[in-house]
Amino acid sequence: MFKNIIFFITLLLFFTGCSTLNKTKVILPPSWIAMQKIAPNVYVNIDMNKTEQQKLVKLIPEAKKYVTAVWGKIKSKPTIYACSTKECVKSLGIGARAYQFNNHLVLSPKAITKELIAHEWSHAELYKRVGGFFNWRKIPSWFDEGLAVFVSHEPRHDKIAWKRIIDNNISYPSLDELITLKQWNQATHKYNKNIKMSDIVVTYATAGHEVENWYKKVGAKGLKELINEVKNGTSFEIAYQKR
Ligand SMILES: [Zn+2]
Repeated sequence: MFKNIIFFITLLLFFTGCSTLNKTKVILPPSWIAMQKIAPNVYVNIDMNKTEQQKLVKLIPEAKKYVTAVWGKIKSKPTIYACSTKECVKSLGIGARAYQFNNHLVLSPKAITKELIAHEWSHAELYKRVGGFFNWRKIPSWFDEGLAVFVSHEPRHDKIAWKRIIDNNISYPSLDELITLKQWNQATHKYNKNIKMSDIVVTYATAGHEVENWYKKVGAKGLKELINEVKNGTSFEIAYQKR
């Protein structure tokens, strides 16, 4: 069965150049896509130099600390794919900076930081804990992204960024505008279109602010209870508002 899937994906990749489809390449054997193993669960493009490789390997436990600080003991064990070249970025379909797909954290050169590894790891942890795609899709984008922002301490989305949004009277979306991934992407474009502060992304700062305040009330215990309830069939809205 697995072989058939790989064959099908390979066939598709030969006939299309779609970046969404390129993301599925990470489930192919690493050598097929010019990636090499440098540590357990860590792969990089074959031409990444040793200094960059060492930097990456050092950052992973630091990123893990950020995720552990919010979740407690981590359940996910993601595989990391990191790129140091444009060719690798293009080949793996990395759009902005990084993505999480099927328990793989896929990083562009810009995303080789402890903050961005922690951000993608947060997505992988949530996905694992909620029990996979069927339940994950019941979680609104603002929660998944807001939690990742909170976990990762990214300066461009943090408390200071949020304060700048408020102080400068910049409009920001309501959570209802940030439910689906499509809405999230549209709002990210819409709310950043006319602002001059290019170091702030309004949707991420908004979601991060919401989830951080919520987490301060409920802690790791509340977070785990919420995710368990969603996993067991309670609607996200009911489980979230209850706390
Ligand atoms: Zn994210």
